[in-house]
Amino acid sequence: MKLPLPELPQFDYIRAETTERAIDLLQEKGVTARILMGGTDLFVQMRNGNSAPDILVDLKKLPSMDTIVFSKKDGLTVGAAVTMNALARNPDVLKHYPLLAQAAESVASYQLRNRATIGGNLCNASPAADTAPAALVLEADLTTLGPNGERTIPIKDFFKGPGVNALEEGEFLTKINFRNQPKGWKGRYLKIGRNAGGDLAIVGAAVMGHPDTDVPSGFHFRIALASVAPTPIRVHEAEEILAQNSLTDAVIEMAADAAQDAATPIDDVRASARYRKAMVKELTRRGLIEVSSLLKKEA
Ligand SMILES: Cc1cc2nc3c(=O)[nH]c(=O)nc-3n(C[C@H](O)[C@H](O)[C@H](O)COP(=O)(O)OP(=O)(O)OC[C@H]3O[C@@H](n4cnc5c(N)ncnc54)[C@H](O)[C@@H]3O)c2cc1C
Repeated sequence: MKLPLPELPQFDYIRAETTERAIDLLQEKGVTARILMGGTDLFVQMRNGNSAPDILVDLKKLPSMDTIVFSKKDGLTVGAAVTMNALARNPDVLKHYPLLAQAAESVASYQLRNRATIGGNLCNASPAADTAPAALVLEADLTTLGPNGERTIPIKDFFKGPGVNALEEGEFLTKINFRNQPKGWKGRYLKIGRNAGGDLAIVGAAVMGHPDTDVPSGFHFRIALASVAPTPIRVHEAEEILAQNSLTDAVIEMAADAAQDAATPIDDVRASARYRKAMVKELTRRGLIEVSSLLKKEA
């Protein structure tokens, strides 16, 4: 027998057209309100009974929420309501931040990527969020607005636990800045899911590297992982191994082992913890081989 899907509970909907209105609304409605972007996480949570807001405050039409701006001085600034498809196809993203385009392109299916936003992906604070490892290795800065004005949160301080972020009550994300990266950098996002089109990551691994004459190996790497800890994580131990030792196969293996050691995954419906651990090593190794060969080609 086919069981009926639970329905969405009743809720009111308001679209905020100005930032002042958004701040007032969120303050006035407090915990009874939830912010709505594409709704691809929120509606699932509401349908499953894990969230029951009285009111959804849609912030997608606030000024600059859906713009992507690149400048040589400030890097890439992406509005919180930019969809994954818009991000993955933007010429500046493809040219200057291909790693971010790869991460956006890896989210779910084409249809879902037309709704799903980068702001929703980060604010939902799932350990499996695909844009999170890219944001971590690109050391993004998040701009927020709230009753106390604007503030900037470095991405490393944003994820606090599964589904928990650093936003305070009434505060919302407006944009994400991906600063200019070191000259000659290369990056790669690799993901394993249960199927090729439309599943959360079993493991996601972002690797970026750049020439760096200040470290013995001549290259500096940043590595971040999704879906293998309570939050997306940077793997500084592995990065240090790669900075201190010449880039040989054995050193890449050591770094991949360090990434595996840093992962603390759980068993869930998508994969066992044991499989995830093994895949952390494999994806990190593959990412490092790809990125280091690109770096060496240009050295
Ligand atoms: C079938 C399916 C497949 C999926 N596959 C993937 C996948 O492969 N990879 C992946 O990473 N995700 C996946 N997801 C999850 C989801 O699509 C993404 O996380 C998406 O980017 C969420 O964005 P959204 O705009 O829909 O967010 P919403 O659902 O609108 O919001 C998500 C949460 O963030 C809060 N929020 C949103 N915007 C803001 C803001 N500006 N300020 C403060 N809080 C805010 C909302 O209140 C809500 O709690 C999948 C979901 C489904 C249903």
